[in-house]
Amino acid sequence: MLKGKVAIVTGSTSGIGLGIAEVLASQHCDVMMNGFGDEKMIAALQARIQRQYKVKVGYHGADMMQPDEVQAMVKATRRELGSVDVLINNAGIQHVAPLEEFPRAKWDAVIATNLSASFHSIQAAIPHMRKKKWGRIINIASAHGLVASKEKSAYVAAKHGLVGLTKVAALELAGSGITCNAICPGWVLTPLVQKQIEEKARDKKIKVKEAEHELLAEKQPSEQFVTPDQIGKLIVFLCTPAADQITGAALSIDGGWTAQ
Ligand code: NAD
Repeated sequence: MLKGKVAIVTGSTSGIGLGIAEVLASQHCDVMMNGFGDEKMIAALQARIQRQYKVKVGYHGADMMQPDEVQAMVKATRRELGSVDVLINNAGIQHVAPLEEFPRAKWDAVIATNLSASFHSIQAAIPHMRKKKWGRIINIASAHGLVASKEKSAYVAAKHGLVGLTKVAALELAGSGITCNAICPGWVLTPLVQKQIEEKARDKKIKVKEAEHELLAEKQPSEQFVTPDQIGKLIVFLCTPAADQITGAALSIDGGWTAQ
């Protein structure tokens, strides 16, 4: 379905981004991967996805906190893979601390990675998408883009900001063939969440499995994790003509979290 299209997936060396890259590749989309990690591990991932799905898979190591590197990644994608049709802004980090103790440097890093990076990548990708009169921009926000939790000030602010940025981009791009939407997942079991589960287990002196259950039960009525594959498949749907008029939306995929 996506044969001949090229997607950038930021933060695709792990978790949700990796899942999205795989689903897009399974639909014959060429993919530019991005994210941190061990060089050998990344090269192996790249080679496996390329071989398994018979698509081109590039890698760009841009630090999404650095606007010039974000721009360079978009340019490199056009040069190496020939286009930028689908932009998935997924790279993200978390820091959990009460407001009074929240370190300034962590605030700056969370806002830069989870919000400003998307502004820079969207700005760099739009001119090319406009020329092609087609594009899909999908920002991976969060249930925390719609509602708050304690001790996540920077993350909640960044994700609410990302939903706002999505709406502005949708308005400015309306009618151009380019849509911009946010996806708002609930809990997905990735390294980012595993760290929070382990911290909970340590703080409450309970088993990791118990902490995992508590984490789900507190927010996510289905008490089941969302999977990266499910998020990838929602993205594939957003790339179909059936989704041409879906733009500026914040789409929840959260087991009922934000229905409460
Ligand atoms: P993860 O930690 O497994 O993966 C994060 C990815 O982002 C990694 O590839 C990492 O290398 C990359 N990354 C981090 N900082 C970067 C930077 N400065 N430059 C380039 N790459 C960088 O996390 P995840 O759970 O897969 O999260 C992915 C996205 O989904 C994030 O935006 C997160 O906020 C969002 N999200 C996650 C959940 C969840 O429950 N896991 C829920 C809602 C939203």
